[in-house]
Amino acid sequence: MAMSTRYLLVAMAVMLGVGAQAQPPAPVASAIVPASECRTASAMIAFDFDGASASACAILGEREFAVLVSPEHAPPINPSPWYAFRYESAGDAPVSITLRYLGRKHRYAPKWNGGGGWRELVADVADDGAAASLNVPGGAGVVAAQEVIGPDDHAAVLRLWSAEAGAPILNLGQSHDGRPVEALRLGRADAPKLVVLLGRQHPPEVTGAIAMQAFVDELVGIAGRDPGLGADTQFLIVPLINPDGAARGHWRANRGSTDLNRDWGDFAQPETRAVKAWLDALTAHVRPVLMIDFHSTTRNLFYVQGDEANAAQQRFLAAWLAGREEDFAGYPFTIEPRNANPGSGTAKNWFYATYDIPAYTYEVADTADRSAARRAAGDLAASLITALEELGR
Ligand SMILES: [Zn+2]
Repeated sequence: MAMSTRYLLVAMAVMLGVGAQAQPPAPVASAIVPASECRTASAMIAFDFDGASASACAILGEREFAVLVSPEHAPPINPSPWYAFRYESAGDAPVSITLRYLGRKHRYAPKWNGGGGWRELVADVADDGAAASLNVPGGAGVVAAQEVIGPDDHAAVLRLWSAEAGAPILNLGQSHDGRPVEALRLGRADAPKLVVLLGRQHPPEVTGAIAMQAFVDELVGIAGRDPGLGADTQFLIVPLINPDGAARGHWRANRGSTDLNRDWGDFAQPETRAVKAWLDALTAHVRPVLMIDFHSTTRNLFYVQGDEANAAQQRFLAAWLAGREEDFAGYPFTIEPRNANPGSGTAKNWFYATYDIPAYTYEVADTADRSAARRAAGDLAASLITALEELGR
């Protein structure tokens, strides 16, 4: 969706540090034009890979750049200001980057990968949160709001799971851009109980994706050791339901400028429709018994059904999560009951309302210790198998 001219003017002013105003600012100097790649004699930054943000940049000095962190559509939009770019530079001197946020505040501490894995960088955040400055080491690397996990990464992991489990990869449908919405079906196609796992409705919510990967790693291992599980229970695992948003570095939406987690009900978007079509085609003796949707927010929590949950659903919650909030070192969590809000369009509400099953949102803190989040997810996947027995009686 094209941004308005006024919005672009504000965007340019923000990037150049003029400061966003309620009214369009006077036209800024035309000598500095936002670009999608900025290059000087000794350094460059670019936004040309899957997961990179669709940011504009400006050259502030020989080794100094500004990046405009702007959303994929005009506000209102969730305050998840995603940025990701790569850089190359000659020599060892650092390169300075200033992130300028269009209408939102700094949220994600910058992560840097120079080829040896991700580590967090220190950023100097402006008092009003509208900008953050950082220095990256000379050489080459990627800087991003969180670890970059793009469609290719998800596809590679899906294929590892498929090979290990001997489980098929299903192509449920296509995104606006034509990317596949892929799923792993773990367990037998005629297993009567179906557990649905969803991931990455919201592209910047990478810690949710990290937890989901560890969760499914454990499930794949369990299924390999216990073939009886797959005869009784099958899992539909959709790790990347918003491939376009992840590839394009969106803050929230798919390519249709829609928050997919508000489309469960309308099904106006191809990605959500793809999952629903698969569910609608199930034979009558296969029924969903549980849905878990992985996200990220400011802290670790599970949104679960409130007192609307029936007895079996309450027993399931007690068997799986309740009382375990402090069980995982480095990964404390809370359980937050919320009754359905009809018409909200979330996967949680739709699965609960449609199938009368537990439908939980698994929220991982942006700043969660990654190792602790993985360990907790693995343990929670293992204990899920026993807890599921509460849903069969
Ligand atoms: Zn989310």
